[in-house]
Amino acid sequence: MTTIGTTVLGYPRIGPRRELKRAVEQYWAGRIDQAALLEVGRGLRAATWAELRDAGLDSVPGNTFSFYDHVLDTAALFDALPSRFAAIGLSPLDTYFAAARGYGQEPPLELTKWFDTNYHYLVPELGPETVFRLAGDKPLAEFREALDQGIVTRPVLLGPVTFLLLAKPTASGFDPLSLLDRLLDVYAELLTRLHAEGAPWVQLDEPAFAADRTSAELDALRRAYARLGGLAERPQLLVTGYYGDLGPALAVLADAPIEAVAVDFVAAPGSSLAGLPGLRDKTVVAGLVDSRNVWRTDLPAALATARALLGFARQVAVSASATLLHVPYDLDAETALQPKVRERLAFARQKVREVVLLGAALAGEAGADWTVEVARPSPAPRRDDVVRARVSALRPEHLDRVPFEQRAAAQQELLGLPLLATTTIGSFPQTEQIRRSRAELRSGALDTCVYEQRMCEEIARVIALQEDVGLDVLVHGEPERNDMVQYFAEHLDGFATTQHGWVQSYGSRCVRPPVLHGDVSRPAPITVRWTTYAQGLTTKPVKGMLTGPVTILAWSFVRDDQPLAETASQVALALRDEIGDLEAAGTHIVQVDEPALRELLPLREAQRSAYLAWAVGAFRLATAGAAPTTQVHTHLCYSEFGDVMSAIEGLDADVTTIEAARSGMEILGDLQAAGFARAVGPGVYDIHSPRVPSEDDIVALLTEAVRAVPGERLWVNPDCGLKTRGYAEVEPALRHLVAATRRIRATLQ
Ligand code: GLN
Ligand code: ZN
Repeated sequence: MTTIGTTVLGYPRIGPRRELKRAVEQYWAGRIDQAALLEVGRGLRAATWAELRDAGLDSVPGNTFSFYDHVLDTAALFDALPSRFAAIGLSPLDTYFAAARGYGQEPPLELTKWFDTNYHYLVPELGPETVFRLAGDKPLAEFREALDQGIVTRPVLLGPVTFLLLAKPTASGFDPLSLLDRLLDVYAELLTRLHAEGAPWVQLDEPAFAADRTSAELDALRRAYARLGGLAERPQLLVTGYYGDLGPALAVLADAPIEAVAVDFVAAPGSSLAGLPGLRDKTVVAGLVDSRNVWRTDLPAALATARALLGFARQVAVSASATLLHVPYDLDAETALQPKVRERLAFARQKVREVVLLGAALAGEAGADWTVEVARPSPAPRRDDVVRARVSALRPEHLDRVPFEQRAAAQQELLGLPLLATTTIGSFPQTEQIRRSRAELRSGALDTCVYEQRMCEEIARVIALQEDVGLDVLVHGEPERNDMVQYFAEHLDGFATTQHGWVQSYGSRCVRPPVLHGDVSRPAPITVRWTTYAQGLTTKPVKGMLTGPVTILAWSFVRDDQPLAETASQVALALRDEIGDLEAAGTHIVQVDEPALRELLPLREAQRSAYLAWAVGAFRLATAGAAPTTQVHTHLCYSEFGDVMSAIEGLDADVTTIEAARSGMEILGDLQAAGFARAVGPGVYDIHSPRVPSEDDIVALLTEAVRAVPGERLWVNPDCGLKTRGYAEVEPALRHLVAATRRIRATLQ
């Protein structure tokens, strides 16, 4: 029996220089063929396996690669993609991409948040018609590929129960869990084949069990691993349930006939192995190195945690806490970080090294490397006494505006907007030209003056287009922003930004989260001149655009030496000052985006109200200084918000625009059920797909919307910002949106 030893549970897959992103986008654009794309994938996999082996890990994970998303890979592997994609008649790879991105008039699968991370997966659609079958061989093929390279990998599979729990039923009342037995047949076949190929271990990820689960769901977990563990010919099984505390699922796994269980001691430092005699003949893979954040591990503390586990399991193996998908590749690639910040950081490559060091120390082999690493100083975070004093002086009245009805009347008088006012979410397409200008500014080929001139020209174009299309509330288009969080991070003190710290958000989309390393303050106004420039070009109102405090935190790597609530207040105060400056410059509408509000929601119910209290408080702290006549918008997306409706109401925004198109306006039911009384704009254009909605498509969505929300409180807008799309799609889509709105308005008047 081979042991696991040191390992990681998953690894970044986009490539250290985003090679995969570039390759798939070139493939979609028809600039490279399938063979060239497959070659890029092969190269990245080979480099990852070699790197992890050479770093000294005892067990190298396999099947962590994906051309788009590992949940989609799983659905494709088991022949569980809706038949509408196969019916198009494309190659298997193109059918896969069609499910991810849509094809012609065929909409893609729904895209949603992966647990409490900023990664997004494609939601499998399962129903009574689903017949699982081992339709592909990705895990097997990649196992063989690594073997050819001389590396025995541990294939990582999405666990069967989590796969079903992540799915969406195609028929109402259908429970995907009812497919478990049939799905287990196919997992059994796959495990048997992996065993035959020589895989000593397979990892099955069940992160769904880091959230609250019903007893039926726990029972499904029990049945699944009794069945898979009971197979006569199989690899050894490691089951993980990272991102939180496994709660009662840990006892289920401890008693299951499997060989190893991974426990995330970073997300759930209080996890205890006491009282679980079933673990005594198992390996516990202890997640001790934070795979969600970028700080160096306190190695002596982690070693102490590992040692305390020794009596409870047959063997303790050291690992990162969850997949390293959520952190950038390599700190060594960063040449511009301040030394005081850099000294505190570790990215994926450095974390692998920490795992190896810890493993050696646990085995009693702490060598010179360990001593050097442990002795390396970790500088103190930046301190700003002014912002600290402001935070401690905050009082409840800083969070309150006059009642909504009063504000709504004052705003309507000032703005005079029509029923079903039309707007967009903020960004317009980031054209090749904009990107080039930004790259030239960075490389020094362009001076700031010329760069800003170009951005102004872009703003003028975007304003002219919006006037021509006939939108009611305009935006400046955000051309000057590389990213909605990074842009603010670059203009606030207390943040550092990276050069190559990319992390996959969904498919080929990557983000570069800033590092919030110290106290936050705003040295100067950030957005005011762009917004006022845009407002000077039109008589229609232009919305000021800010990113909200919760989203700034969620999409940054945040300091872990003080409560998140405190960090959020510091960020909120900077935004509050910015809103004051926007108002002083004549802006009447300000949007504070909180797309990540739902993302940070704790997986366990018991922790949610405390989170929502500070998150809602931070938004209100940022916005409540606005005059009653200033219309505050917020924007939410990437999640289903049904279960946080009261928190959304609690934000006290005047207008909430919210993603809805891809899920067919499911949110309307939630709004009605919650008695949501503010203005709302459910998205009617799915901007995550290249598909252009027709006027009739939008009329159909709006017809539903006006049944749920009265016209004076209903806004018409896309699902999200337009920056990832091209003008060829955006312009007709917006024209259809305005035309559809006019048709519905006519029926209301
Ligand atoms: N204002 C931002 C934009 O339009 C919002 C993006 C988002 O919600 N993710 O790009
Ligand atoms: Zn959005």
